[in-house]
This record gives sequence, structure tokens and C-alpha cells, in this order.
Amino acid sequence: MQEQANGTSPRQSSCLVNGPIIVGAGPSGLAVAATLRQHSVPFTILERSNGIADLWTNRTYGRLRLHLPKVFCELPHVRFPPDFPIYPSKHDFLRYLHSYAAHFSIAPLFGRAVTQARFDEAAALWRVTAVADGGEVTEYVSKWLVVASGENAEVVVPKVKGRERFAGEVLHSSEYKSGERFKGKRVLVVGCGNSGMEMCLDLCEHGAIPFMSVRSGVHVLPREMLWSSTFGIAMKLLRWLPVKLVDRLLLLAAKMALGDTEKYGLKRPKLGPLEIKDVTGKSPVLDVGAWSLIKSGNIKVVAEVESLGCNGARFVDGSEMAFDAVIFATGYRSNVPSWLQDAGGFFTEDGKPRARSPASSNWRGPNGLYCIGFSGKGLLGAGNDALRAAADIAGSWLQEQEQAAAGISPV
Ligand SMILES: Cc1cc2nc3c(=O)[nH]c(=O)nc-3n(C[C@H](O)[C@H](O)[C@H](O)COP(=O)(O)OP(=O)(O)OC[C@H]3O[C@@H](n4cnc5c(N)ncnc54)[C@H](O)[C@@H]3O)c2cc1C
Repeated sequence: MQEQANGTSPRQSSCLVNGPIIVGAGPSGLAVAATLRQHSVPFTILERSNGIADLWTNRTYGRLRLHLPKVFCELPHVRFPPDFPIYPSKHDFLRYLHSYAAHFSIAPLFGRAVTQARFDEAAALWRVTAVADGGEVTEYVSKWLVVASGENAEVVVPKVKGRERFAGEVLHSSEYKSGERFKGKRVLVVGCGNSGMEMCLDLCEHGAIPFMSVRSGVHVLPREMLWSSTFGIAMKLLRWLPVKLVDRLLLLAAKMALGDTEKYGLKRPKLGPLEIKDVTGKSPVLDVGAWSLIKSGNIKVVAEVESLGCNGARFVDGSEMAFDAVIFATGYRSNVPSWLQDAGGFFTEDGKPRARSPASSNWRGPNGLYCIGFSGKGLLGAGNDALRAAADIAGSWLQEQEQAAAGISPV
């Protein structure tokens, strides 16, 4: 890496990078870096936090396990250790990621938040601005830019009328660690996805009184069916059957295993669990124990929140209840639009690639732009993106090296 002062400010420097710039040292950034390493292509990773996998390290609750069986969550080239359980804990997963980074000698530049990236047409180079924790601003320059900043980069908290008046604690699920400190408290969990459901379960197990606010429909599926993972069964069926038929089979099996979820306030969406994931990105809930507590009334399902007041909430059905705390399990969003100048319109306003299938190349944009982990297919999808993108970059990097060796300067 060659570093030179650009003269505009004593705290700003410019840095021509050998190989691609990767934004983000989560599983996606690590997977593409490992694969580049295998192709002998150098790279620079810019990571805003002070360690790898910030989401898993700092923004997840203690009891979290991978939602999907381990075979669907491995990164390219390295299997999970055989003694890992089928659903590794977040601590297992972090252990794996740290040894993965060490194995491939991946050393990201930590504490570098990327605030801008633009393609300089004249130079045919990406100019990526990062601000270090100490305030120093550096422009990193490369022919290739890999976006691996994640679909979950920023928290989403809806604007709720009266929130400032609520006297109790308000937090996002990313700040929730354990139900221990909520013992005996009435806690409103807003949202009924995998995190919302599991936090309600955790609150119950710690002697709190959880209420789960549900706005739209949700598909709840048992995590296992017939001693196999539901996700695994669905993947196998999809090899032979169309998605609508697989959805019907899943819903039939779910009804047999769980009963009628609508009777307990959890309306099923019109689209099936796999189809809705494809169309909207919304994942079905794979139940890890919350469902039986909903049935027994230990977790109470309540309507959408209309507003918060000093001591509690008012719901759209007109009811009112007192609460000690409110937790927003309302998800995350990409932050790509806040820093990437995307003249080609490769990303949507939501910061996800416009093309949503690998066939239409959701991992490769124009001008040496790549995008890993935005296919809505979790860790498995990220691994596949990483393999394709790294091979593509390696091809053009090698060509450039050969031209340089032959004394031909790139156009
Ligand atoms: C609670 C929870 C459970 C999940 N369970 C599963 C599961 O079981 N299986 C599965 O496949 N998926 C699961 N997921 C989805 C999961 O987010 C992804 O599979 C995985 O973390 C994606 O990795 P990533 O590297 O793309 O994104 P992230 O893990 O979000 O990593 C992105 C990295 O980029 C960094 N970054 C962001 N913006 C910038 C910037 N501007 N400058 C510099 N750095 C930046 C972030 O700090 C972060 O380290 C789960 C998600 C959540 C929230």
C-alpha cells in the first residue's frame, strides 16, 4: 500500500490500494477476502468498528444461535468444527469467524467508517473516503470496490407518537442482551420476527411479562419437522417442486405441528413463507420455543402500537396497557445509499441491489463494483457471492499484473 499526503489538510491523506477495497469485515467481507487470498490477490478491508463481525459481537442477544442449521451457514473453504452443535451459538460462530480470519491472515483496518465512495470516470478508479476513530480522513483509491457492509448495517426504529413521553426504558433489539434485568417487569416487544419472538421467550424465562405487538402477518414454522430441519427439507423439496407447492406443504406441516396460529393473533400473510421471502425479503419465524408460550398465554399477542404515553401504550384496536419497558424488534436496513454515489443505479433506495437473483448478477455492478451478502439468502448467499466476485476480480487483477509486467499501462 502506498501512502502519500495530498496536501489539502494535514489530517487528510490519500492511499492507492493494491487490489480491491472491501467495505465491511462481517462474514461477507471475510468470505470475499479469504477467497481473494486463495487467488493470491491482495485487498484492503475498511471496517468501522474495532473488530470483525460487529453485528454478531456487539448487536445480538446472549442466547442467540444460528437460525439455520450449520451446513447452511459455513463460509467458503472452511467447515465448522465437527463438535459444533447443529445450531451453533453466537459464541461458537464468533469463534469460527476469528479462526477463519486468522487462517487466511485477514487483517482489516479497524475504526475506519466509510463515508463516501465514488467512481472517478476520468481515472477509472474508485475513490473511497473513510474517517478513522481519531478523526483522520483518508481517501483509498482502487480499481475495484467490494460492498460488504451488510443488509443489517443500521437499526430501524419506527416513529411512534408520544415516544418522548414514555417514562420507561426504550431500546432496540440490537441493544438487548438478556431478560435478566427485566425480571417482574411488563415489557412490550414491538415486532414478531425471529428476534421479537426469541426475546419474548427469553423475557419469559427470566420472569418478565412480555407482550408482543404484531402489525402485519407472519409465518411461524417449527424449526424441525420429522426430526430434520424445516429449512433443509424446504431446500430439498425446491429441487423438485415449484415454490408455491413447497409453501403449501410447509404450511400444511406447520398447521399439524403448531395448530392455527391465527387463533392466537398471528395472521398468516397471503404469500407463502418461501415466496414472501423471495418477494419482500421477510423471513419466516423458525420457532425455538416462543410458540408454546404464546399458546399458554405467557406471551401475550397485542395489536399494532398507535402511540406511547407516560406509562404505557395505546393500540390501534383502542386498548391501552401499562408497560415498564419497550423493545423495538423492528429490524435493520442497509446504509449503502448514505455513502455510495451510485450513478449507475445498481442499488435501490433501500440500499439493496436492484437485481435480486444471482442469474441477473446481483453481486457484480458496473466499473469494478461488487456486492456481497445482499441476496437476502443469509450466510449461504454471502458465500456464493464471495466465490463469484473474488474469481471475477482475480481475473481482471491478474490481467492488470500481466500488462504491468509487459510494460503496458492500463487505459
Ligand atoms: C439476530 C440475527 C440472527 C441471524 N441469524 C442468521 C442465521 O442463522 N443464518 C444466516 O444465514 N443469517 C443470519 N442472519 C443474517 C446475518 O445478518 C447475516 O447472515 C450476516 O451477518 C451477514 O454478514 P454481512 O457481512 O453481509 O453483514 P454484517 O454481519 O452486518 O457485517 C457488515 C460489516 O460492515 C461494517 N460496516 C457497515 N457499514 C460500514 C461503513 N460505512 N464503513 C465501514 N464498515 C461498515 C459493519 O460494522 C459490519 O461489521 C442473522 C441476522 C440477525 C440480525
